[in-house]
Amino acid sequence: MLEGVQTEEIIIRGKAVVMNTYGRLPMALVRGEGSWVWDADNKKYLDFLTGLAVNSLGHGHPKIIATIQEQAQLLLHTSNLYWIPNQVALAELLVANSFADKVFFGNSGAEANEGAIKLARKYAKKHYGDHKFEIITLENSFHGRTLATLTATGQKKYQEGYEPLPTGFSYVKLNDIAALEGRVDDQTAAVLIEPIQGEGGVYPADKEYLQAARRLCDKYGALLIYDEVQCGLGRSGKLFAHEWNGVTPDIMTLAKALGGGIPIGALLATDKAAAAFQPGDHASTFGGNPLATAVGCTVLDIILGAGFLESVQKRSAYFRKGLEKLAEKYQTGGMIRGQGLILGWPVPKLGPEIVGVCRQQGLLINCVGGLTLRFLPPLNIREDEIDQALEILDRAFSQVWTG
Ligand SMILES: *Cc1c(COP(=O)(O)O)cnc(C)c1O
Repeated sequence: MLEGVQTEEIIIRGKAVVMNTYGRLPMALVRGEGSWVWDADNKKYLDFLTGLAVNSLGHGHPKIIATIQEQAQLLLHTSNLYWIPNQVALAELLVANSFADKVFFGNSGAEANEGAIKLARKYAKKHYGDHKFEIITLENSFHGRTLATLTATGQKKYQEGYEPLPTGFSYVKLNDIAALEGRVDDQTAAVLIEPIQGEGGVYPADKEYLQAARRLCDKYGALLIYDEVQCGLGRSGKLFAHEWNGVTPDIMTLAKALGGGIPIGALLATDKAAAAFQPGDHASTFGGNPLATAVGCTVLDIILGAGFLESVQKRSAYFRKGLEKLAEKYQTGGMIRGQGLILGWPVPKLGPEIVGVCRQQGLLINCVGGLTLRFLPPLNIREDEIDQALEILDRAFSQVWTG
């Protein structure tokens, strides 16, 4: 392990041996506690990015640490050739608290979405025949980086250079009901939607749009899939973001926050949809292993604890108000978007510069979908920490904003 090595050396050694797939910032984080992280030079940051919505309960949560320690001593991994008790327990928790009847576990968001696409294709073929395979997704969406999920992702920049892409995907504009009506037909196997687009810039789907998607899917025998990899698991202030609209899907995918930092992904479905998978149809060596599912149970127990989701909504209202005040002060135009603690502040310019100054000043955020500042703080962030973040943002704007 690289212990006690300073940032400069980590970067030099990293560039020599790690594939150059990320436009990485010149920093390395080595320690975390609650809403705070420390870099290799011992500089401290307020973490409003939380490993991209992964560390939703902050860093070093005592219950997560205890679960990992206990499970590591018992059993880390067994094959899915055998029953895994923790996997059963986590599936029961997810089923008891969602529309779903059955769960399949993988290791990431992309893998969960890959499974959702496969399940929808199997279902369509079994019930309707070979002509029904099309997956409709949204422009500006993000579903992962495997070949099928980057094809599902409605953004050219992720697809370039990987052609030929898998066929049978098409894209429509978010919240344009007429466009969806014009696209869904007998060939449609599924419509795949993030209830709140994350990477695309924090754009929520309208209730009317989800209702239309539900109605069209039912009319044509297609499945409605929600990708709640980023917006799910309490991030929106409800357990699942689609609960704000009351429009239920047939399939839903989860990942990011589910393992509290341990990799895990999940594919949830109704009995009707899930029945399309038979033994041998889908699998994952590490999927649903004893460690990841033990932590998943602990994470869900905390999120489902009394008052937790209400407190997320309270913190959200407090933070949003602060952001709105700043947006007004600096006249950035545009409304704060999002729900709960996935919030986006659109700025007409200088997004990356503001992110950079915030980092210098000890606040981690990023900029998505062009020029939207995105905030994904821990769900248990304290109000005084929100105040500190707002102060840093204020200082950053006062430095770079030219009106
Ligand atoms: C992050 C993300 C994914 C991909 O998850 P990975 O674990 O990186 O494969 C898929 N969908 C959404 C909405 C995401 O935010």
